[in-house]
Amino acid sequence: MLLDLLLPQRCLVCSLPGGQVCPACTASLRRVGLPACARCGAPTAWPVPRCTECGGLRLAFASARAAVEYDAPVRRIVGAWKERGLRRLAAWAAAVVADTLEAPRADLLTYVPADPDRRLRRGHHAAEALARELARTWGIGVEPTMVRVRGSPRQRGLTRTERRRNAAAAFAVTRLAPTRVLLVDDIYTTGATANAASSALRKAGAQEVEVVTFARTIRIR
Ligand SMILES: [Zn+2]
Ligand SMILES: [Zn+2]
Repeated sequence: MLLDLLLPQRCLVCSLPGGQVCPACTASLRRVGLPACARCGAPTAWPVPRCTECGGLRLAFASARAAVEYDAPVRRIVGAWKERGLRRLAAWAAAVVADTLEAPRADLLTYVPADPDRRLRRGHHAAEALARELARTWGIGVEPTMVRVRGSPRQRGLTRTERRRNAAAAFAVTRLAPTRVLLVDDIYTTGATANAASSALRKAGAQEVEVVTFARTIRIR
């Protein structure tokens, strides 16, 4: 954006000059780190194959990993990234992810698609921008694989299995998926979106879906 170029850059977190997120604030981000649940990526006291957060769930993805905690400073950064379309934050976020997580092994990198209305309004989709930066960094091909379907059916009064089927129906896959797919999104909150998108990819042929997000909501400490 033109204004970004003209105004002196002030850090979105501390307001001091020094870039959209200054080096000090970047260094003090709360990384999710290890040990963590091998499945959903929640921080745990010791390494576990599944945890209290994901233990009772059937998940379509093999693992979900995130770089940083979705805390107050990260909320502010992500808010500016998405609402104001600060494009350069995608490269910054990708650098934080690549610096925190080991490079995955995947045949294809893809992303959770934008809501069509939102995408038109903002002209910028954070998950796609992050995916494209990570694809370049990790040397994996990136392509869109699905669209959101409007008017997902109501969830009330349905069994858990029916709900999951509905959630998966929120995404329509537009191509066949290769064996190992890396699915990128900006935030992991309950995991429902990542799971629904992963489920759609599995139906399109993926054997293993790994999820990577920039930030993650942390419930248990
Ligand atoms: Zn700062
Ligand atoms: Zn877990």
